[in-house]
Amino acid sequence: MKAIVATEDHKAKVVDKELRPLEYGEALLDMECCGVCHTDLHVKNADFGDVSGVVLGHEGIGVVKEVGPGVTSLKVGDRASVAWFFEGCGHCEYCISGRETLCRQVKNAGYTADGGMAQECIVTADYAVKVPEGLGSAEASSITCAGVTTYKALKESQVRAGQWLVLFGLGGLGNLALQYAKNVFNMKVVAVDINPGQLDFAEQFGADICLNPETDDVAKIVQEKTGGAHGAVVTAVNKAAFDSAVNAVRAGGTVVAVGLPVDTMDLSIPRLVLDGIRVVGSLVGTREDLAEAFQFGAEGKVVPQVHMRPMEDINDIFDEMEKGQIRGRMVIDLKG
Ligand code: NAD
Ligand code: ZN
Ligand code: ZN
Repeated sequence: MKAIVATEDHKAKVVDKELRPLEYGEALLDMECCGVCHTDLHVKNADFGDVSGVVLGHEGIGVVKEVGPGVTSLKVGDRASVAWFFEGCGHCEYCISGRETLCRQVKNAGYTADGGMAQECIVTADYAVKVPEGLGSAEASSITCAGVTTYKALKESQVRAGQWLVLFGLGGLGNLALQYAKNVFNMKVVAVDINPGQLDFAEQFGADICLNPETDDVAKIVQEKTGGAHGAVVTAVNKAAFDSAVNAVRAGGTVVAVGLPVDTMDLSIPRLVLDGIRVVGSLVGTREDLAEAFQFGAEGKVVPQVHMRPMEDINDIFDEMEKGQIRGRMVIDLKG
C-alpha cells in the first residue's frame, strides 16, 4: 500500500509500505482521506524533533476492514478517525480525569505512531472515534484535528453566548473556530489575519469584525469597539499574534494558545497579575470532544471547506500552506 512519510531532508514522500498483522485491541482501516494540518508541516520540518520515516497525518478517516482480538468498540464497516490523540495509557491521572490528551504515555498519529496519510492504517480501536451518519468523510477529516481542536479551545476560553472572542489566524483551524464560535456557541467574533483572502473568507462565515495586523492596531481597535474581548483563541503561527491577544482581552479575559510557532511570547507580569489575565495552552480534544465536534458537523452547523488532492501533491500543499495560499483545508484523497 502507498503511504506518505516524512523524510530526513524535511520533505514528504510517497512510499510503498507493508503493514504488520493486527495485535490485541487493534483495527485495520481502509483509509478514505486525510486532511493536511499545519502540524504535519511542523512535523516534517522536524520542529518538534526528527521523526523521519513516520507516516504523516492525523486528520484521517477510514472504514474498518478487519478487527484484531479483543475489539468490541468497532466492527467491520464502521467509519472511524485517525486523530493526533491516537492512544493514551488509560489509567494515569490525566486519562481518568477528562484530560487524556495530556497523558505522558500518549501516542500521536503522524508523529509517534504511523498516521492516516496512507491507504491503510492500524488504529487502537478504543481510541478511534466513530464518524456519525450524515457527515461526509472529507468534512469529518477536517474536524478530526482542526475542528475538535478549536471546539475544545473555545470551551477553554470560557467565553459565553453574546460575549466577544478574538480569533487570531483564520486558516485551516481558524475557519472552523469561527464556525463553532458563531453557530454553536453564539459568540461575537473579531477575526484577525495578515492574509486579506482569509479575512474575506471570515466575513462570508459571519465574523462580526475583521482586522489585519499589517494595517490595523488590533489590540487598540478591539479594546475600543468591544471594551476588550472576553477571550482570545490564537491559531496563528506567529509570536506577534500571541502578544497581541494578551493586549486585546479585557481584565479577567482568557487567552487560549493553540498555534505552535517554535518561539516564546512576551507576557507583562503586571498585566497578567493586576488585570487577572489567564493564558492557557489547549491541545486537540478528548475522544468525547471529537464525538461532539463531529455531531455539530453532522447537523450542518459547521461546514468544513475542503478540497480533495492526490497523494503526490503533498509537497505542493506544504508549499501553498507556507505561502498562506490555502482557504479552508486540503484533504488527501486516499482512494484516488
Ligand atoms: P494554517 O496555515 O492553515 O493557518 C494559519 C493562519 O494564521 C493563516 O491563515 C495565516 O495567514 C495566519 N497568520 C499568520 N501570521 C499571523 C498573524 N501575525 N496574525 C494573524 N494571523 C496570522 O494552519 P492551521 O492548520 O490552522 O494550524 C495553525 C497552527 O495550529 C499550527 O501551528 C498548528 O501546528 C497548530 N495546531 C495546534 C493544535 C493544538 O492542539 N494546539 C492542533 C492543530 C494545529
Ligand atoms: Zn492537526
Ligand atoms: Zn494516561
